[in-house]
Amino acid sequence: MDFTQAKQRIEWLKAVLWENSRKYYVENAPTMSDYEYDQLMHELEALEEQYPEYRTPDSPTQRVGSDLETPGSRNLETGAGKEFAKFPHRYPMLSLGNTYSIAEVEEFAERASKSLETPFTYCCELKFDGTAICLTYRNGKLFRALTRGDGVVGDDVTANARKIANIPETLQGSGWPQEFEIRGEVLMPYESFDRLNKEREDNEDQPFANPRNAASGSLKLQDPEEVANRGLMCTLYHIPAGQVDYPTHDEALKAAASWGLPISDTRELCRDIDGIEAFIAHWDTARKQLPFPTDGIVIKINEMDAQRQLGYTAKSPRWAVAYKFKAEQALTPILSIDYQVGRTGAVTPVANLEPVFLSGTMVKRATLVNEDQMDMLDICEGDWVYVEKGGEIIPKITGVEESKRMPGAKRPLFPKVCPDCGTPLVRPEGEAKWFCPNTDGCPTQIKGKLVHFLGRKAMNILAGDATVDQLYNLDLVRTPADFYDLTQSQLLLLEGWKERSAQRFLDSLRESRNVPFERVLFAIGIRYVGETTARDIARHFGDIDNLARASKEDLTAVPEVGEVVAESVYRYFRDERHLREIERLRAAGLQMAVAAPAGNASDALAGKTIVISGNFSVSRDEIKTLIEANGGKNSGSVSGKTAFLLAGSKPGPEKIKKAEALGIPVLDEEAFRKLLPDGAMPAPKEDNELTLF
Ligand code: NAD
Repeated sequence: MDFTQAKQRIEWLKAVLWENSRKYYVENAPTMSDYEYDQLMHELEALEEQYPEYRTPDSPTQRVGSDLETPGSRNLETGAGKEFAKFPHRYPMLSLGNTYSIAEVEEFAERASKSLETPFTYCCELKFDGTAICLTYRNGKLFRALTRGDGVVGDDVTANARKIANIPETLQGSGWPQEFEIRGEVLMPYESFDRLNKEREDNEDQPFANPRNAASGSLKLQDPEEVANRGLMCTLYHIPAGQVDYPTHDEALKAAASWGLPISDTRELCRDIDGIEAFIAHWDTARKQLPFPTDGIVIKINEMDAQRQLGYTAKSPRWAVAYKFKAEQALTPILSIDYQVGRTGAVTPVANLEPVFLSGTMVKRATLVNEDQMDMLDICEGDWVYVEKGGEIIPKITGVEESKRMPGAKRPLFPKVCPDCGTPLVRPEGEAKWFCPNTDGCPTQIKGKLVHFLGRKAMNILAGDATVDQLYNLDLVRTPADFYDLTQSQLLLLEGWKERSAQRFLDSLRESRNVPFERVLFAIGIRYVGETTARDIARHFGDIDNLARASKEDLTAVPEVGEVVAESVYRYFRDERHLREIERLRAAGLQMAVAAPAGNASDALAGKTIVISGNFSVSRDEIKTLIEANGGKNSGSVSGKTAFLLAGSKPGPEKIKKAEALGIPVLDEEAFRKLLPDGAMPAPKEDNELTLF
C-alpha cells in the first residue's frame, strides 16, 4: 500500500468507525457486529502506527465513542435525542484495550513484567456487557450518576439510576470518603431483556439487538418510572485512584462492598499468565449460566503503585486489558429466502436454514435484515452461512463461508414488487428497507393492521389471525371500523361459528368501546407509535381533534417524541382516508378523548404506595393508572414505605425477596382486583382467540 492508498484507507476507516460508533452508543441500534467493528479498529490502529503522520486527534483510536445525547441525535428508544444536563467527570472515563487472542494477553503480561520492578498480581474480572456508569456519593448519599458520555463529560441520569434496585441511596458501614466517584456497569439481565423485547415485538416496536443496547437505551429514558420497570441491575468495579487509600484495587473493592455497594465477587487474584488463562477458560463456559450478559474478561494490575507507573494512553489504561469472547456461531446452509411483508409494508428478507443447534435452541430461520445487509454479506443462493444469536430473539446471519459456495451460485434478486400484492416496492430516502406502498390495498398489510387493532394491548377483542383471515376472505372487513358494522348473520358465515361464538365476539366489540383513548390511539396503528408513545401523546393532547390539528412542532414538544415520530403522526392526520376512518370509529362509540381526571374514581387505595412487578392480564400502564385513579401512588422499588407489592406472572425475584425481607405483603392480581370498587378492573379473558363451539 502506498502513502495515498494508506491515507484513503485511514479516512475510510475513520468515517466507518465513527458512523458505527454513533449507531451503537447514541442510537443503540448497531448494524455491525462488535467483532467486525473491533477488526476495523485494529486495522486503523496498525495503519496509524505505520503512518503516524495521518493520526489525528479526532481519530476513533484516540477518543472513546460518545453516548452524549444531542438534540439532533436519534435513539431507538426515544426517537430523537433529548437533552440531558451534562457534568464533567472528576477523572476521565476511558475505554479498555481489547483483544480476542490469548497470545495478546500473554504479550500484555510480558510488557507489564518488563516495565514493573516490584512484584505485582493481576485482578481478573468478568467484563460485564452493559453500559458504563459513574456514581458520585457525597456524605454517604448518592449524589449524581453520569454516563460515560465522551469520556470527559457525561449525561446526568441520576433520576434514572435511583430507580435501579441495587444502587443504594445511602451507604452503610464506615470509612467512605466524604465524596468519591465509583464506576461500573448498568446491565439488563436476560429475563428482563426477553420480556422487554417480547413487549416491543407485540407493539411492533423495533426490538433491541442485545441486552447491552437495551440497558443503554433504558438508562436514557426520560421517565424514571419506566426505568423502574426495565429490571436493570448495576455492578461496580472501579474507584479511580487518588480517592481512597488502599494499596490494591481488590482491597478498594472489598471496602466498597462493605459500604453496601454492588460489587461482584466473581473476581480472582492471579499471580501469572497460567492463572489468567485458567480464569478465562473457566468463565468461557461458566458465564453461560449467569443471568446477565458478559462479553469477556478484564485483566487489571492489582497494585495501585504499579498502576500509577504504567499510566494511560489517550484512550485506555496501560494497566488493564480486555479479553473478549467471540459470539457463539453455527454454520449451516440456506435452503431458501422468503421476503416477508409486515403491517407497515416493510419487506424483510428471511433465510430458511437447514436446522442447526445454537445457544440452547434449534435455529431454522434467520433474518437477513435488508437488501444492503445482503449485499454486504455477498449472499448467494445455497450459501453456507454463519448464524449468531448473542441475545437476539431473531438469529442473524453474520457471514458466508465462501469455501463452501457452489460453482456458479447466483446472487438472489431482491424483489422489485411486493411478494403479496405485486405493487412496485419503494425505498424512501433515509430508510434501510424497501416498502410496499400499497398500504390500503396490500392484503398482508391490511390483515396485519386488523390483527394489531384487535390485540390484547390494543382493543383487546376476542379474535386473532384466523378470524381476521376469514373476515377478510369473505370481504366483510377491510379497516378496523368495519368490525363495528358486523352483524350476527354475517358472523355466522364464518367456518365453525355458531350463535354463541358470534355473540361473544359482538359482546367483545361492545366492551371495546370502554377501552381508554390511549389504547385506541395505539390500536389504529400509526407508524412508530408504540404503546408508550401513544399514551404520552394522548395525555399531552387530551383528545383526537387536538391531536389531528397538531403541528410537527406541537408534536415534538411531547417528551419522548422526536422528529421521526412527529412526522409520522402529522402525516397520518393529513390523509383523508384516515380522517374518515377515525370518524367511523368515533361514530361506533370508541373513546376519542382521555377520561376525565381519574382522581375521582375512588379512594380505595388512598395513602398507599404500591410497587408492581411481572405481567398482568392488562398492561402495566393500565394497572398504574388504576392505582392512581383509586388514590394510590406508584413506586418502582420496594422499601419500608411500600404498602404492598402487586405481583403478576413472572415477578422480579429481587423485588419479591426484598418484600419478604421487609415483611411487605405480596398481592396477586385477583387480590388487587378485590381492593378496587366493583367493575374498576375487569376479570381477565382466558384466551385472545375465540373458542369455537
Ligand atoms: P469495551 O466495551 O470494549 O470495554 C470498555 C468498557 O468495558 C468499559 O467502559 C466498561 O464500561 C466495561 N467493563 C465491563 N466490565 C468491566 C470491568 N470489570 N472492569 C472495567 N471495565 C469494564 O469498550 P468501549 O469503549 O465501551 O466500547 C468499545 C467496544 O464497543 C468496541 O470494542 C466494540 O466491541 C463495541 N462497539 C461496537 C460497535 C458496533 O457497531 N458493533 C460500535 C462501537 C463500539
